[in-house]
Amino acid sequence: MVASTATGADPDSVGWRFDNTYARLPDVLFIPTNPVAVREPQVTILNHSLADKLGLDLEAIPPEAAAALFAGQALPIGSQPIAQAYAGHQYGGFTMLGDGRAILLGEHRTPSGRLEDIQLKGSGRTRFSRGGDGRAALGPMLREYIISEAMAALGIPTTRSLAVVTTGEPVYRESIRRGAVLTRVAASHIRVGTFEYATRRDEATLRALADYAIARHDAELIDAPGKYLEFLRAVTDRQASLVARWQLVGFIHGVMNTDNVAISGETIDYGPCAFMNAYDPGTVFSSIDHGGRYAYGNQPNIVQWNLARFAETLLPLLDPAPEKAVAVATEVLENFPAVFERYWLAGMRKKLGLRTDEAGDVELIQALLDWMQKSRADFTNTFRDLSSEGLPAVDRYREPDFQAWHDQWQNRLGRDILPNGFSYDLMRSVNPAVIPRNHRVEEALSAAEKRDDLSVLHRLLEVLASPYEARQELAEYREPPHEENGYRTFCGT
Ligand code: AMP
Ligand code: MG
Repeated sequence: MVASTATGADPDSVGWRFDNTYARLPDVLFIPTNPVAVREPQVTILNHSLADKLGLDLEAIPPEAAAALFAGQALPIGSQPIAQAYAGHQYGGFTMLGDGRAILLGEHRTPSGRLEDIQLKGSGRTRFSRGGDGRAALGPMLREYIISEAMAALGIPTTRSLAVVTTGEPVYRESIRRGAVLTRVAASHIRVGTFEYATRRDEATLRALADYAIARHDAELIDAPGKYLEFLRAVTDRQASLVARWQLVGFIHGVMNTDNVAISGETIDYGPCAFMNAYDPGTVFSSIDHGGRYAYGNQPNIVQWNLARFAETLLPLLDPAPEKAVAVATEVLENFPAVFERYWLAGMRKKLGLRTDEAGDVELIQALLDWMQKSRADFTNTFRDLSSEGLPAVDRYREPDFQAWHDQWQNRLGRDILPNGFSYDLMRSVNPAVIPRNHRVEEALSAAEKRDDLSVLHRLLEVLASPYEARQELAEYREPPHEENGYRTFCGT
């Protein structure tokens, strides 16, 4: 299990500035764990633009050194690798979990002074691995890389992907796959599930975790009166904003268990996620989500459910009198639908080019969504088509009920403060032309995994890096799949 820090390559010349603040928390919250030694690490992809933002220079070391670094074979100086303990409600049931295949190397301080977690995923077994092998396959790690980077380019809070390296070792799934390690960068990996774990240990651990999370994510609350309640409010606000952002681009997370909900408000854990094509609130892609618990249209409800689990963990800190603690937490939770609705409506108004609020806007938006659902219109392309003067000449837009809606919308735009030209500019800045379409993602993964051809992946990543630009040559990336019945995504692979 011990990784050497002396492979000859100097991982520190890339500019790491490591701290290990999490490892100074009560030691029930983690277990020191080294990445497993692997046979033949090789770089698949490095994220140079993210590295730049982090103040890292990955060109400063040769590819073999980068491979050793991101496979966990040559740790940055100052790194104290740990596996984090956490629990979680999975599909509604409580379970003890923890990093079963991830290792936190520590926190890197960026040039602007922020701390970013640097975590290896797929780096071998830990004490939390249960029956798992602690490994990851290349395809799913590249999938996380693609989607997380696409989300970042869309402007949605998310963990990032700094590198994917192969290990030179097989992993055994339904078939034999190539082993890989993803380097994930996150504002932190503190989850609702981390609080569920801590509160079941003891109050001192809970308080230490809460104070740490506040210092890291809500520093303005450190000395605030009633700071734990304000913290609950801040986390609730971030989650409401986040899920509104997902809804507005048709993103389906797929496995919104409480262990996959980050306190930071970043999207985390890209397992069975996918973007919706034809608009349908019932859309589910995950192969194991039979009841539609995590369907597109149910995501806001599930966020509220997850926040209720979070609020429960904080009760001992909210008030010494349990009834009082429940009362103040309940008030925050009951406000969630209104907070979500505010974010969602503000986002939807922008998607329709509106700068003012009118009473009938919700109905106007709902009428469009109803029409999209009935005519199985593509969610992304419909909004993008509306974002320029003159609609494409397709039959769907000649239907009388669409025309009636369109007239109503044009009238509404006419009553807005912006001249229409500006409305369209606004719309094009929030309605993406390209999203990571499932068939495009699969195509890139299959070329990389089966043929060792990374060109399809690089081209896709380049397109997804500017999602609001509709370049003519990108038309093929805008097409929904011809037939998506049966498209399924898998988690834990
Ligand atoms: P996920 O579905 O990816 O959110 O993972 C749920 C839990 O299963 C987490 O505690 C993971 O660390 C753990 N896990 C997933 N895959 C593996 C694996 N191959 N080996 C060990 N633990 C795993
Ligand atoms: Mg997870």
